[in-house]
Amino acid sequence: MYDLIIAGAGPAGSAAARAAAMMGLNALILEKDVFPRYKPCGGALSDRAVSLLGFPLPKSLCERTITGARVHFRDKVLERHKGYSLTTLVTRSSFDQFLLQKAEDSGAIHVTAKVLDYRESDDSISVLTNKGIHRARFLVISSGCQDHLKNKILGQVAKDSMGVCMVTEIEEDDRIIEERLNSSLDIHFGVADMGYGWIFPHRGYYSVGIGGLASRHMRARRIMMEFLKANGFPLNQRLHGHLIPQGGSREMVARRRVLLTGDSAGFVDAFSGEGIYYALRSGQIAAQAIGEAHASKVAETYQSRCKKEIGEELGYALQFSKMMHSHPNIFLRILASQDDVLDRYLEIATAKGSYKGFLRWLVPRLPISILRSFKDIFQNKSL
Ligand SMILES: Cc1cc2nc3c(=O)[nH]c(=O)nc-3n(C[C@H](O)[C@H](O)[C@H](O)COP(=O)(O)OP(=O)(O)OC[C@H]3O[C@@H](n4cnc5c(N)ncnc54)[C@H](O)[C@@H]3O)c2cc1C
Repeated sequence: MYDLIIAGAGPAGSAAARAAAMMGLNALILEKDVFPRYKPCGGALSDRAVSLLGFPLPKSLCERTITGARVHFRDKVLERHKGYSLTTLVTRSSFDQFLLQKAEDSGAIHVTAKVLDYRESDDSISVLTNKGIHRARFLVISSGCQDHLKNKILGQVAKDSMGVCMVTEIEEDDRIIEERLNSSLDIHFGVADMGYGWIFPHRGYYSVGIGGLASRHMRARRIMMEFLKANGFPLNQRLHGHLIPQGGSREMVARRRVLLTGDSAGFVDAFSGEGIYYALRSGQIAAQAIGEAHASKVAETYQSRCKKEIGEELGYALQFSKMMHSHPNIFLRILASQDDVLDRYLEIATAKGSYKGFLRWLVPRLPISILRSFKDIFQNKSL
């Protein structure tokens, strides 16, 4: 009988397992794949995500330090740099393996098994895997957004309400990568509806991808091929498709003995696609709620902490995304004419900024036409 079983050893699961073990809880983490495994991802780890880890990232995992962003829209390009690190580029297979090892080092037990289903009783939960049954007081579902386990809490999430991404890794000489990208994340708006294309610099390769809303975006492969071509990359790449939650805040992320974390809970920034930070943080909050709250209050405690620490920010990120994508020309004009807009936005990647602070600063600078069409956001007193 464990205190908690965690399904999935991505950033959310390993963060939950490590935090739980460090609190003296008996934690079992079940992962279907043998690590290291490939995970489709840009690998951009924001500084605020790094600061959540609670240990330094080994140099071997930090492939690039990013200090700026280059934003493309139609024929316009805008580039801003900060004098400090915004993001670290990692390869997810190695990063996730390292986080899992950290969880094991802290005392969590790791077993390779696929969770198939679970059944709750009054005092425990039985977790059925392809290798047997385990029991625990709580189940933390951290199995990502493509797995079905979350559906008992969320219901079936319609595929067209998700984002869809396509990504590939393209080998290149490090010197050429640095010359081309100059320690920036390269972001291309206008490539995909409600999304963007990216070229991120790693060690010895680029991560190149596109992402957008699935309902408007069913031709992901074609968009990806056009993006590769437009940016001078060979077309014979191995492409990986993956869903991504649309973001925004969720009302229900826990019930009784089951807590959803990371992508399973839909915790992704709708504008940037950042999910690792929210995965780490929600995993930690889940462990704290299980360790600190009375058993009958764990779900409620988790839900209200997530709402406060994560949901509100994700709600603002979704609103910003809708504003930006419904008026891209106006936003780009503002971005191009006021240097400090991109500067301020970039601070969200660090502990220095937040969407709420950014929007509060941005609203008085927006034209009246945008304010009218989004008056519900601007009437929100908390802003
Ligand atoms: C193409 C793409 C690019 C992205 N780029 C970035 C980026 O640059 N920066 C960023 O911050 N975010 C990025 N994201 C989002 C980020 O990848 C996710 O938000 C993050 O991985 C969520 O972590 P997680 O632990 O919740 O889930 P995951 O990382 O998906 O981990 C889930 C784990 O659960 C395991 N699993 C699944 N089902 C079961 C089961 N039934 N039983 C046991 N194990 C199971 C899986 O094998 C996996 O290891 C990107 C997403 C995509 C799709």
